[in-house]
Amino acid sequence: MLKTIQILGSPSCCFSLSHRLKKPYSNFHLISRNPILAAVSKSHFCAFRFRKGRFFRAFQMSHTHSEPSPDGGPSPPSTSSALLSAGFTRKINFCQLCGGPTKHEVPDGEEKPRAICTRCGKIAYENPKMVVGCLIEHENKILLCKRNIQPSHGLWTLPAGYMEIGESASEGAIRETWEEANAQVEIMSPFAQLDIPLIGQTYVIFLAKLKRPHFSPGPESSECKLFALEDIPFDSLAFSSMLVTLNLYMEDKKTGRAKFHYGIINKRPGTSPSEIREYTLDSHMRC
Ligand SMILES: [Zn+2]
Repeated sequence: MLKTIQILGSPSCCFSLSHRLKKPYSNFHLISRNPILAAVSKSHFCAFRFRKGRFFRAFQMSHTHSEPSPDGGPSPPSTSSALLSAGFTRKINFCQLCGGPTKHEVPDGEEKPRAICTRCGKIAYENPKMVVGCLIEHENKILLCKRNIQPSHGLWTLPAGYMEIGESASEGAIRETWEEANAQVEIMSPFAQLDIPLIGQTYVIFLAKLKRPHFSPGPESSECKLFALEDIPFDSLAFSSMLVTLNLYMEDKKTGRAKFHYGIINKRPGTSPSEIREYTLDSHMRC
């Protein structure tokens, strides 16, 4: 998350992004589980202009159900009021440092309740998770994976998943693509950052292309398939984040110009995670 903010918040982020990507990728073979995924295009990054004050303006929270986590993990509290009042601390009952029981209080000098260890005093801070993925273009088609795991089993998604410690966002997107689609890809440019504050997730999606025209389902996928734009299964997508991403992509295709998008996905009150169309896309910026 910090890396993305640093990249996107910089007034000269084109330079910053290229600069930041070169070094991680030169060492990627040292940290990747798949040493063949080592390349990224250094020449296709578009120039972005963000004004910091505009980019970091206050985020709006809504009172809605959560969106399921992309890897089938447990969902956080179902309403933002619960989330705010609990401060995501209810699930932390034991200290990760010493194993002692926690109490849930607002620490001195802070405003939100946290899980505080009653034995060693460690405060458990929880921060949003980064989900990274690829929107892969190949011969005017895009690659989608049918999920072979819950949640949203049997529905289509871009290859994406949680970013790991020790990798950059682009490295994570390449890794997830390899794991879910057995596809080697080259990153072309960042395409979208979509925040879902209610569930503490930020999606970072990259435009990418296949290095070789080969792909097949990984363990988390039952099928991988290239879709022409007119055949994208919009009625069978797994998550609101994927629907938003693909809608933005289609809009760009109509204008003939790829852009970078930032936005906040707020689900409508009272809707379930499976109702992927019940959202608003707020604070949408494109450049
Ligand atoms: Zn402790």
